[in-house]
Amino acid sequence: MSACIFCKIVAGEIPAAKVYEDEDILAFKDIATARPVHVLVIPKKHNTSLATVSADDALVLGKILAKANEIAVAQGSPDGFRVIINTGRVGQQEVPHLHAHIVGGPDPVGPMLKRI
Ligand code: AMP
Ligand code: ZN
Repeated sequence: MSACIFCKIVAGEIPAAKVYEDEDILAFKDIATARPVHVLVIPKKHNTSLATVSADDALVLGKILAKANEIAVAQGSPDGFRVIINTGRVGQQEVPHLHAHIVGGPDPVGPMLKRI
């Protein structure tokens, strides 16, 4: 049994509010919603982050991005959205299973980053 929380969701060992699934990727609602639409899209096969992917992962990474608009529209973000992929310590990634946040809703999501 994997210790990875998102692998547990893939395996059905812990619940998630799934919004899309196919053989390669799974999308579910973030438990700590930051915007009216906040979905996480993950590869089903464990990969820690964008820092650990290889060329073999290009297809599934492309699939995550290619499905983002469909997921966003279905969840209530018909006029655009933002994709965020936090990576490693500097990216302040909390869950070490690669995931894309899709955030949106009826209104603009806000500035991209605060200036330092
Ligand atoms: P990150 O900082 O990019 O690693 O984001 C991890 C995200 O995973 C956070 O937004 C959490 O709210 C979310 N999260 C953690 N555990 C779960 C869970 N069991 N189901 C849904 N979302 C989760
Ligand atoms: Zn995992």
